[in-house]
Amino acid sequence: QFIVFEGIDGSGKSSQVVKLAAHLRLAGHDVLFTREPGGTEIGRRIRSLVLDPTAGTEPSPRAEALLYAADRAQHVETVVRPALHEGQVVISDRYVDSSIAYQAAGRGMAVEEVAWLSDWATASLKPDLVVILDLDPMIAQGRMKGRSEADFIEKEDLEFHEKVRYKFLDIAAENPQRYLVVDATLSEDEIFTIVRAKVDERLP
Ligand code: C5P
Repeated sequence: QFIVFEGIDGSGKSSQVVKLAAHLRLAGHDVLFTREPGGTEIGRRIRSLVLDPTAGTEPSPRAEALLYAADRAQHVETVVRPALHEGQVVISDRYVDSSIAYQAAGRGMAVEEVAWLSDWATASLKPDLVVILDLDPMIAQGRMKGRSEADFIEKEDLEFHEKVRYKFLDIAAENPQRYLVVDATLSEDEIFTIVRAKVDERLP
């Protein structure tokens, strides 16, 4: 089983991923917790190329899309597929939908092109379940204050994050069987109860 968490910065993905991994391990599953960008050594280098605010230069939108795709190709081929093959439950903090939301909806690249590139990079590996933590960017911005990633949400305007948010919701609405949208203004425990119920249905 391949489970993905998506959402804008500050939506609380990281804490949910940690809780779910702990829950599944207690239930006896072999769990691999990973992330994009940066789930491999090459990915970590790509992550610092794309996201390091001190790098002094930014990739163009097409270059950025290719760098995320390269990170994903390496991640799927060397981490995610081998783990799935061994029967592990793989939980990833971000996957293809982040590219559709950020590179396409956010940066204005064509959705079909980013979808095609992602499909090529992953050799068509699709998640079994995607959890979208849905949050108003204004609330997320408040939550991010004081965190090191604050640069990223402040660098872009709220409109950018709104486009990203609504793209995640659109994708989920098109695929209701594979997507779970959770209101990220709920408490961490309330969110986790909803997520756990959905995951337990699939992984008794
Ligand atoms: O969730 P995480 O902190 O790892 O994401 C880092 C940043 O990378 C996010 O702020 C997001 O804006 C950006 N990102 C992106 N496109 C992706 C994945 C992440 O722009 N495909």
